[in-house]
Amino acid sequence: MKNQKAFDVIIIGGSFAGLSAAMTLGRSLRSVLVIDSGQPCNRFTPHAHNLITHDGKAPGSIKSEAEAQVLAYPTISILNDLATEMTGESGAFTVTTRQEHQFQTKKVIFATGVKDLLPAIEGVEDCWGKTILHCPYCHGYEVRGKRTGIWVNDDTVYDFYKLIAHWTDDLTILTNGQPQFEVDQLPTSKVQIIDSKIQKLDHQNGALQNVVFENGKTHNLDAVYFRPPFEQHCKIPETLGCKTTEAGHLEVTNFQQTSIHGIYAAGDCTTPMRSLAIAISQGNLAAAMLNHELINEAA
Ligand SMILES: Cc1cc2nc3c(=O)[nH]c(=O)nc-3n(C[C@H](O)[C@H](O)[C@H](O)COP(=O)(O)OP(=O)(O)OC[C@H]3O[C@@H](n4cnc5c(N)ncnc54)[C@H](O)[C@@H]3O)c2cc1C
Repeated sequence: MKNQKAFDVIIIGGSFAGLSAAMTLGRSLRSVLVIDSGQPCNRFTPHAHNLITHDGKAPGSIKSEAEAQVLAYPTISILNDLATEMTGESGAFTVTTRQEHQFQTKKVIFATGVKDLLPAIEGVEDCWGKTILHCPYCHGYEVRGKRTGIWVNDDTVYDFYKLIAHWTDDLTILTNGQPQFEVDQLPTSKVQIIDSKIQKLDHQNGALQNVVFENGKTHNLDAVYFRPPFEQHCKIPETLGCKTTEAGHLEVTNFQQTSIHGIYAAGDCTTPMRSLAIAISQGNLAAAMLNHELINEAA
């Protein structure tokens, strides 16, 4: 092992939640190591929206600016690496990385996000974050009034439809197979439902043109909302025994504490409400609460 340095806090995941937590802890005079493997979930999207002071900027440039601000605090360092293992207990954790570093730390924050599990359908990954969209608050304004699909095939369709209908009334529901919900509960005079299997998406550099179905038919759309299944980006918390919710998020208190003492979590790994502002806010809260814990334990 290359390193045996000790820190007050190690933050695993150095994107929006992790960097926000790092700033709060650096300003609280804590020694902090951020370990980040450089795979934020929004790396597919050219423009991030709905974050005041940064609206419309490339997510990578917001992250770079945050890294520079965080690194101005002399007690914070960032390591580009993947945390692979963690052992120990509050006050004495050991974190090991893929590059064979080993660090000691009193406390840990997981800000590791989630991995979206995109279906292996041609065109989906190319359009993801550009015209295949997870959230109307992030991208709905840019595609307001446009020909829009909602790719869904379960009971969430009713709410999903009502939500997206707020931004456009030109809506098509794509079930990609036999509908698994009560079609009659939707206003079928206003919304078309296509149950054919999707074969591929025709697009130009991620700008959706047509959905192509296995039966050879096509449907012209400008954008499609889609909530893919996900998994935790980092499996360490579950390996340690941190409780998860039924949906697969790390269970946290209102103060971002996980079910294991000394381990906090923030950002997408803890919530279905995926946004930069929420990830930043949760990182900030986790760090302040963790600092409070360290102060109390030292007293
Ligand atoms: C396509 C897309 C577009 C989006 N657009 C917007 C938008 O316009 N506006 C908006 O507000 N929100 C947007 N979001 C949501 C927003 O990007 C997320 O809510 C936000 O990135 C969550 O931040 P996070 O820090 O929790 O996780 P992430 O940003 O996903 O970062 C997690 C980090 O942890 C690292 N990591 C994971 N495991 C390990 C490990 N074991 N060791 C080291 N590092 C690890 C990853 O590499 C990654 O860098 C978008 C999301 C997607 C998917």
